[in-house]
Amino acid sequence: MASDKPLQRAPLMSLDEALSQVLAQGRVLTETEHVAILDADGRFLAEDLISALQVPPQDNSAMDGYAVRIEDLATPGVKLEVTQRIPAGQHGHALLAGEAARIFTGAPIPPGANAVVMQEDTQTEELESHSLGNPMLRVNVVPANGQWIRRSGEDVRKGDIVLPQGTRLNPASLGLAASIGRAHVSVVRKPRVALFSTGDELVMPGEVAPEDMRPGAIYNSNRFFLRALLVRSGCLVTDLGIVPDNLPDTLKVLKEAAHDHDLVLTSGGVSVGEEDHVKPAVEQLGKLNLWQISMKPGKPFAFGQLDSTDTTKQVGAYFMGLPGNPVSSYVTFQLLVRPFLLALQGQAQIASNSYLIQANFDFPKPDKRREFLRVKRNAAGSLDLFPNQSSGVLTSVVWGDGVIDNPSMQAIKHGDWVRYFPFAEWLQ
Ligand code: AMP
Ligand code: MG
Repeated sequence: MASDKPLQRAPLMSLDEALSQVLAQGRVLTETEHVAILDADGRFLAEDLISALQVPPQDNSAMDGYAVRIEDLATPGVKLEVTQRIPAGQHGHALLAGEAARIFTGAPIPPGANAVVMQEDTQTEELESHSLGNPMLRVNVVPANGQWIRRSGEDVRKGDIVLPQGTRLNPASLGLAASIGRAHVSVVRKPRVALFSTGDELVMPGEVAPEDMRPGAIYNSNRFFLRALLVRSGCLVTDLGIVPDNLPDTLKVLKEAAHDHDLVLTSGGVSVGEEDHVKPAVEQLGKLNLWQISMKPGKPFAFGQLDSTDTTKQVGAYFMGLPGNPVSSYVTFQLLVRPFLLALQGQAQIASNSYLIQANFDFPKPDKRREFLRVKRNAAGSLDLFPNQSSGVLTSVVWGDGVIDNPSMQAIKHGDWVRYFPFAEWLQ
């Protein structure tokens, strides 16, 4: 009778430790591209954007109305002579005592003026004696010094770094870059990522109809969300589909992918089952760390390097292997792969924001592992728990709008404040 020794279980690694090891290995991509800001949404700045001018360039009117001197307007009802008209895009001349300038939103404040009165607070009078001269204006209010004037440089001062290197550009920051006159910016080139799924049980949607599925087969769902997540993380993706569960095929695909990618990302096949060929294949082509991370969903995670077959390249590709269970794959991507990809692109702020929110449920049986519970904010502002937290149930991620980061062995009682990460922050 075979006397199987009980399996020696390695202690689990903390997620923080895994993340810091991953980040410590990631070198920022050094190649940059000069791109039009029209095409730069989602890209990572490779330079500080410094303003060569004040924004706005001059003091200007925040209203359609009249530029005035508050010295003339100590009481309501004073009459001023309208001596000039300044539309946006033009500039006026000095305003003298007793005068007002008709002015429009965005037009420069003329010298001597120190407030703008909105047109609703005035009346123009075509007085008999002035019928051939300038119109007279009755000002019905007593303006405060500086009112309705937008100051030069109140948005950006000349010499300011408006967007530092490492910023991920978004629609608002593209507008800001344009406001300082930039039409092009230098950005980090996109990481090239090869993606494949392992597992002989997998079939591709579209290739086999649901009624024709053989027993034991399941659709490959990981491929679709992983590819979309990679694109949202700024990558160019080479989709290598499904690789059969055998060593020669796994070796062949890995070798080719290592050649011209920064990262090879796989899902499935990183457990310790005998059908898992990713581990021996990566070990043969480079080096591999197979971690058991204290997280749920998740746990098995592989991180390594594939040597390049191209001798002109100093390094080959990074390798990351995600667990096959869809929710585990999704969550480990967000917590380990995404930060790594942001780091490769030089993003300064890697950690995503979390918020303390009250639980609207009891969770009496916590896990030994740090657990990421799929939850959704309700109308009262607290969090509802998805009833099935199994790592195979993708519905939980679709229903939920985020996860609670629940420490090991921590029970949750209704009303407890818990740490919540919105998915929206991970999907930017
Ligand atoms: P593995 O990590 O390969 O042992 O797979 C763990 C579980 O995840 C198994 O039930 C697999 O069938 C499932 N799985 C693996 N890869 C995928 C995939 N790409 N899409 C959906 N389920 C998967
Ligand atoms: Mg498998």
